[in-house]
Amino acid sequence: MRTDTIAAIATAMSSSGIGIIRISGDEAVGIVDRIFSMKNGKKLSDMPTHTIHYGHIKDVDEVIDEVMVVLMRAPKSYTKEDTVEIDCHGGVYVMKRVLETVIKYGARPAEPGEFTKRAFLNGRIDLAQAESVIDIIHAKNEFALKSSEQQLSGSLSAAVRKVREKLLHEIAFIESALDDPEHISLDGYPETLHGIVEEAQKEIQKLLANSDNGKILKEGISTVIIGKPNAGKSSLLNTLVGEERAIVTDIAGTTRDVLEEQINLNGIILNVIDTAGIRETDDVVEKIGVDRAKKYLNEADLAIYVVDTSTQLDENDFEIMELLKDRKAIVLLNKSDLTPVTDSESIRKHLDKKMIAISAKEQTGIEELEETIREMFFTGEVTFNDEVYITNIRHKTALQEARNSLNLVVQSILDGMPEDFYSIDLMNAYEELGSIVGEAVEDDLVNEIFSKFCMGK
Ligand code: GDP
Repeated sequence: MRTDTIAAIATAMSSSGIGIIRISGDEAVGIVDRIFSMKNGKKLSDMPTHTIHYGHIKDVDEVIDEVMVVLMRAPKSYTKEDTVEIDCHGGVYVMKRVLETVIKYGARPAEPGEFTKRAFLNGRIDLAQAESVIDIIHAKNEFALKSSEQQLSGSLSAAVRKVREKLLHEIAFIESALDDPEHISLDGYPETLHGIVEEAQKEIQKLLANSDNGKILKEGISTVIIGKPNAGKSSLLNTLVGEERAIVTDIAGTTRDVLEEQINLNGIILNVIDTAGIRETDDVVEKIGVDRAKKYLNEADLAIYVVDTSTQLDENDFEIMELLKDRKAIVLLNKSDLTPVTDSESIRKHLDKKMIAISAKEQTGIEELEETIREMFFTGEVTFNDEVYITNIRHKTALQEARNSLNLVVQSILDGMPEDFYSIDLMNAYEELGSIVGEAVEDDLVNEIFSKFCMGK
């Protein structure tokens, strides 16, 4: 099947070092042949696939830019079509001029998400992966990127496929048994099916349970500030939040109805669970703060332990240090503006973590803290765990629907309904799961999803 050739600026429309114009379709190479004059005088169409070439983009005699051109022939490209990428200079004007020239010579401007749509339609990626591309494009920061990439590499798809396969097997079995009752017996089968459906429900439940986490992780790294009362946790939070008053997100509907402060450290977003706030609203003073923090430690990616160095370490401190032993944690030696009573050595005997002297009040040492967190992230010391996260509402809804259908199957089994009742609901669950990986989805849905993409992707 012949396809028309599409083109778009694939990089951000801002002045950056390099801009990339991406062209995909049957005519991609032919079009570039007409406007690309290669340094060695040869033609791009004579070059082998997956090679890169230096030269100029020209409109007849007018030189538009000095470029590198990457040639990727079908099917080994993102779209599985002939694809050419022109790496030009990154100015907005230059990128536009190159794109205009490509269009003048036969390509048409790509619709938002059209490259990825083609990748999907040509079987290069499934729908869950395609949607992850949206998330990658829209990822606010590197953390978010990581979660999206995980989905892109297909971990969600793989988990969903496994459940689907099981269900399909049972559907096929029931159908065959109903067709051929003489040879295939359904005696005792409902019990077997019951077990299998329960397994599938568990799998789905696991994916759903992570979807709430996914929502949070997508936005940043979950962080708990822990320390005994009066150590300076609230002061630290306020200092970190700074003038840029944090967006206070009320994560209603999730397992934890607590407040989270969102702090942006030069692009790395921390979601700090505001345990100090909890203590105040609960009106129960003292130890509660530590207890609450403990609860959230398990879900946190990072703990920030605030020590009041103007006092002796106390029971609270020892308890906290014990909790933090095997966790990612930073120790803040707070109140460094006062005469020290506790020093880093006395802490290190109990807890060997990175320590930073700060004063939340005088706002010193904060930069070093920010730097440390950034470093932990970039060296991969702070990471998400390896579970599959569902970061997409559509995925979540489909999983819920599948779960509902499976509940009906169980109900039918318990009610002793005839076997053909099972297969209807099994089939529904199967199709719902299919909509996550893009099997059996309607055209509308496909269009809707891809129109969400940025241009050029
Ligand atoms: P929290 O109970 O851990 O949230 O502690 P707060 O942030 O409410 O601080 C308790 C008290 O210690 C307050 O009076 C703060 O002003 C004071 N404080 C916090 N950080 C510092 C600091 O770095 N230096 C000094 N001198 N006082 C501080």
